[in-house]
Amino acid sequence: MSLPNVQLATNFIRNIIDEDLAGGKHQTVITRFPPEPNGYLHIGHAKSICLNFGLAAHYQGCCHLRFDDTNPVKEEQEYIDAIKTDVRWLGFDWGRHEYHASDYFETLYGYAEKLVEKGFAYVCDLSPEEMREYRGTLTEPGRDSPYRSRRREENLSLLRRMRAGEFADGSRVLRARIDMAAANVNLRDPVLYRILRANHPRTGNTWCIYPMYDFAHGQSDSIERITHSLCTLEFQDHRPLYDWFCEALEIYHPRQIEFARLNLTYTVMSKRRLLELVNEKHVSGWDDPRMPTLSGMRRRGFTPGAIRTFCERIGIGKSDSVIDMSVLEDCVREDLDQSAPRAMGVLRPLKVTLTNYPAGQTEEFTADRHPKDPAMGTRTIPFSRDLYVDRDDFMEDPPGKFFRLGPGREVRLRYGYIIRCDQVIKDPASGEVVELRCSYDPETGGGALPEGRKKVKGIIHWVSAAHALPVEVRLYDRLLRVADPSAEKGRDYRELLNEESLEVLTQALVEPSLAEAAPGTALQFERLGYFCVDNKDSRPGGLVFNRTVTLRDTWAKVADS
Ligand code: ATP
Ligand code: MG
Repeated sequence: MSLPNVQLATNFIRNIIDEDLAGGKHQTVITRFPPEPNGYLHIGHAKSICLNFGLAAHYQGCCHLRFDDTNPVKEEQEYIDAIKTDVRWLGFDWGRHEYHASDYFETLYGYAEKLVEKGFAYVCDLSPEEMREYRGTLTEPGRDSPYRSRRREENLSLLRRMRAGEFADGSRVLRARIDMAAANVNLRDPVLYRILRANHPRTGNTWCIYPMYDFAHGQSDSIERITHSLCTLEFQDHRPLYDWFCEALEIYHPRQIEFARLNLTYTVMSKRRLLELVNEKHVSGWDDPRMPTLSGMRRRGFTPGAIRTFCERIGIGKSDSVIDMSVLEDCVREDLDQSAPRAMGVLRPLKVTLTNYPAGQTEEFTADRHPKDPAMGTRTIPFSRDLYVDRDDFMEDPPGKFFRLGPGREVRLRYGYIIRCDQVIKDPASGEVVELRCSYDPETGGGALPEGRKKVKGIIHWVSAAHALPVEVRLYDRLLRVADPSAEKGRDYRELLNEESLEVLTQALVEPSLAEAAPGTALQFERLGYFCVDNKDSRPGGLVFNRTVTLRDTWAKVADS
């Protein structure tokens, strides 16, 4: 198994495993990541992936990728493929250990017959509504189904006829016979099998009865001889049921350990909601760069290394918490600061004419691609009389601390000359500033500062009008307007969507060295943030850039204002 360099901090799960190994309970560690292929993976899944694969790597054991594919109505091949792509992208490899709960359908059915034979399961004809009524509530015990006392032979025959397709969908179920008065509702005779005529992505029409998730998950772990079955806290109440199945069936019993799921601010995480966002077209798809999905984050320019660092940094604990999105974004910044080459781009261009620079003349400046990594080499930046700068870098009536362009003010053009703004040209009709007439100081080229010349505080980015590439830039913001949608009682998260989460800039210009930038390429537009070439809509001559993240966390200020 090839594994990326994961720094695995100690946590309570590692302590348990250490004890199990030291005490001789296990000789090796086998974990698994068990997605249900009913959607794309999100950053919460990354936590589980890094934990399970990380532990396997640390203990030189192995981690299985198992698809818990027990619900053919919601599962699709597209999701299976996407999950594999995302796990690999994160840097993990399951080798030959790819499994599917559906591989065990025959075994699981055998388990069902075994339970019937032992008197531990019965076929029940109550309607779903009746079953709900009989189940009781958290405060009241349930009541026994009238079918609970069916004889063993009758149950076995009915189960076989269920499998043979003799009954209508939903007309009967197989249930465990446990305890209708149990305080834990999961133990009140849970359904094990249902009748469902649906095409399964892997088993096609072979089956017309399907095991429930709870009857498949624990036993799949058992079949694969998982040593440590790690799952999120909501499965704590299911553990007694999984224990009961293993004991009743007398099969290998993995140890289940629960940990807290990851929640992030300003987003929703459950696949059901993400699917709604896709189906209702609030976003462009599962890989929309605003989505907390791994495919969305990849498209946005988040790196696998940053996501692994994030998962390590947040740690593994036992109490639910909400992690601030800025923690993830900081990991992305740290990673891209090292790996992303620098370039100049202008998002909202404002024309600058250097009145004392010869028309038709071009010169070239050479700049490092990365200030700290000479191995990345250099790039050539053409300079001429007609330039563009960003509108944000000019103010007609600037406050004292504004070290950029204003009437009569000087700035340095990054890698180039010092210029002074002599004249502001406005559109006569709208009053909008449309051009700055400036003069350059020929003694200051390439960053030079002649002796005795006053230093200028501001340095701004720019592009040469005749050489720049027109591109599209997409700026992304938080998916939701509020940090914690669950705190907004009675409000659907769809009412909390940030309507300004996507801004498309069609006038942007970038330096010509980017002409050949391939989809997925990451870079830093100096002073603006980290960006990447969109992996879907970008093409040569029509580059599209996604803003991955700003250089600093600007959100805190915006949210306060
Ligand atoms: P969702 O609630 O988003 O639909 P799920 O738990 O139903 O997620 P599964 O495909 O069943 O999705 O999850 C596969 C594995 O990933 C499980 O072991 C699950 O516990 C884990 N997992 C899912 N969401 C998170 C999360 N937010 N944080 C940590 N682990 C998670
Ligand atoms: Mg699930």
